[in-house]
Amino acid sequence: MTTTDATDRQLAAPVPPFAARVAATGGSPIRDILAVTARPEVINFAGGLPAPELFDTDGIAAAFADVLAHDARRALQYATTEGEPALREALAARTTARGLPTDADDLLVTTGSQQALSLLATALLEPGDTVLVESPCYLAALQAFGFAGARVIGVPGDDDGIDPAALDALVAEHRPKLLYTVPTFQNPTGRTLSADRRAAVAEVAGRRGLWIVEDDPYGELRFEGGRVPWIATYEGARDRTVLLGSFSKVMAPGLRLGWLRAPRELRRACAVAKQAADLHTPTVNQLAAARYLAVRDLDAHVAKVAAEYGRRRDAMLAGLPGALPEGSTWSRPEGGMFLWASLPDTGGYDSTALLSKAVEHEVAYVPGAPFHVGDPDPTTLRLCFVTQTPQEIAEGLKRLGRALRS
Ligand code: PMP
Repeated sequence: MTTTDATDRQLAAPVPPFAARVAATGGSPIRDILAVTARPEVINFAGGLPAPELFDTDGIAAAFADVLAHDARRALQYATTEGEPALREALAARTTARGLPTDADDLLVTTGSQQALSLLATALLEPGDTVLVESPCYLAALQAFGFAGARVIGVPGDDDGIDPAALDALVAEHRPKLLYTVPTFQNPTGRTLSADRRAAVAEVAGRRGLWIVEDDPYGELRFEGGRVPWIATYEGARDRTVLLGSFSKVMAPGLRLGWLRAPRELRRACAVAKQAADLHTPTVNQLAAARYLAVRDLDAHVAKVAAEYGRRRDAMLAGLPGALPEGSTWSRPEGGMFLWASLPDTGGYDSTALLSKAVEHEVAYVPGAPFHVGDPDPTTLRLCFVTQTPQEIAEGLKRLGRALRS
């Protein structure tokens, strides 16, 4: 070190502080848990990872190869912020076929549906604005709203999803900008909002004036029961619902492909926010997905994946009575990836404190506390039932039973 270096260091003024929102919004507790549980011997029910052996690797590889062989100059070039027309057209046709008439121009392609949440927060929220969410709620949505400086309030609900009467009262009291909901196979509970309640939520949004963000990454993964229409299809909600979609759970999350369907002015505002965020979603991924949709049968693939997920849910339902203490309860999802359990109120169970015991027994879950908005319920936990085979699920639950009894 030279004398000049030492002098410079002594004289260096401190750099300015980070923005307050950094301190106000913590990192994801799930990502922290994933780091602790990365040891291969741990049976990990904590992550929300789709089963990688079920990815259509050959189909996706062929789509990329085809795009790079025939359309490389376009695929490797900058592209429009709104997204590749071929992909938007295919997405619009899929959305229309599911009961919501949609044109390619109604859609903005996003870098995963997670980006759609950030764009909406940027376009809609001032610091101090109120956002209503389900409690418990998807964690990274809480982060996105937290970064925007929003005041987040939980709407109570039950096994059928949020309670529309409670929603009505909270909207009257707090005048929120938006309601964020995952109405089908919710993360973390696995529950689905009934059709009657969807109609009632749409009616509240229409009557009181409220944006609805309807996040639907799991809806296609149904292995039981019948499809429930999107909230966006109901009368009162049509001009004020943003529907989010994603290929993460039905194709592969590494593609980072999602989309949002929003009324024109809001979609334009999100597109401007996206220009500032990443200009556009990778062209090559968009074209490969469009190619895949043109030549493969995504619905047939998803049906196969959903059937296997159903077998894995059954394996988890079969093992839970032996694993969790007497008096525990759990959800019975008809699709998606997650199941939500509550340990008995009596007995002083705290799933956060118990996690280290579970990891000692080489099994992991996510404690329910951080998903709650307002009062955290320490007896709850989230289990992902799709990443392991039925045999591994059975073994993991035996370990969990031993950990909870120890
Ligand atoms: N919404 C919900 C409810 C999720 O569970 C997830 C991923 N776990 C996302 C959005 C984000 O998904 P992606 O960005 O991969 O589309």
